Amino acid sequence: KSKARQKGSFLFFNTAINQQVHLDLQREAALRLALENNEIDVVYQPQINIKSGKIHGVEALARWHNDRLGNVSPVDFIKIAEDTGLIHDIGMFVLKKSLLDISNFNSNQDQPIAVSINLSPKQLNDAYFIDKLVAAVTDRNMEHRLITLEITENLLIEDLASISPVLERLRDYGFNLSLDDFGTGYSSLSYLSNLPINEIKIDQSFVNKLLTSHESESLVKAIIAIGESYQLTVVAEGVETAEQLAQLSHYQCHIAQGYYFDRPLSVSDLCARYHEHLN
Ligand code: C2E
Ligand code: MG
Ligand code: MG
Ligand code: MG
Repeated sequence: KSKARQKGSFLFFNTAINQQVHLDLQREAALRLALENNEIDVVYQPQINIKSGKIHGVEALARWHNDRLGNVSPVDFIKIAEDTGLIHDIGMFVLKKSLLDISNFNSNQDQPIAVSINLSPKQLNDAYFIDKLVAAVTDRNMEHRLITLEITENLLIEDLASISPVLERLRDYGFNLSLDDFGTGYSSLSYLSNLPINEIKIDQSFVNKLLTSHESESLVKAIIAIGESYQLTVVAEGVETAEQLAQLSHYQCHIAQGYYFDRPLSVSDLCARYHEHLN
């Protein structure tokens, strides 16, 4: 009897794996066609200067909608894109689309806003990436100081030796560099003094527990102090409540981003909602 049960659970286990493999292959095949079928889109989440209450810029976030698969989370499809090499084309699409949208937005404003774009370390390892980036930025006539490139802290650390010279060049071009999901990755901070970054983003898991966990509260304070001593802009992501914002303001965090202000917005919603705020 117990043997039969074991066999049964093995079969069940096997079927579950097969279903996962099947779903992965389905997504991979669909992702290969996603760009030419216009299924990839970019949405923009405002980043607010905490002191002035005004919009500082937006973070560009990729979206994928497929008729059969529905909306696939970027956490999942960026991973597939990295594993298959599709990240180069998808990343460049997100980059060009966000430069187009934000340069258009800025052309109707007195004061331009900035745009933050997420990069995969795979893109930074492409020898032609900087040339392609600079060409795309020149096409849209955008000032380099208005562009921030975000790299996830733990992915960067894994590849530090090959990526840090690329970061040096990007800084020389005048782009801003931000460490995303800061605090979740590395335990030693000595690498910070050797990297040409100028912004850190407090991971949303800490912001989320800011008022309920002393550990998170201490971490947030410590990260803001690190930012202060390294002269980095500090951005808090995942700000959902007025209480969280008040606390971050009290600690003198510079910029906040999250559902309390806005969900990621389509470009037309961004224009409608923020147009008059700037003039
Ligand atoms: P991320 O760069 O850390 O982006 C922040 C994520 O938090 C976004 O999820 C955003 O929608 C979500 N978020 C913002 N405010 C709140 C809030 O108040 N509460 C909560 N619970 N969540 C909030 P999203 O859009 O699903 O993106 C997930 C991750 O996928 C991003 O994390 C980023 O690592 C990656 N990603 C997205 N677009 C791109 C891209 O174009 N290229 C690359 N390489 N990665 C991307
Ligand atoms: Mg990001
Ligand atoms: Mg983040
Ligand atoms: Mg994150």
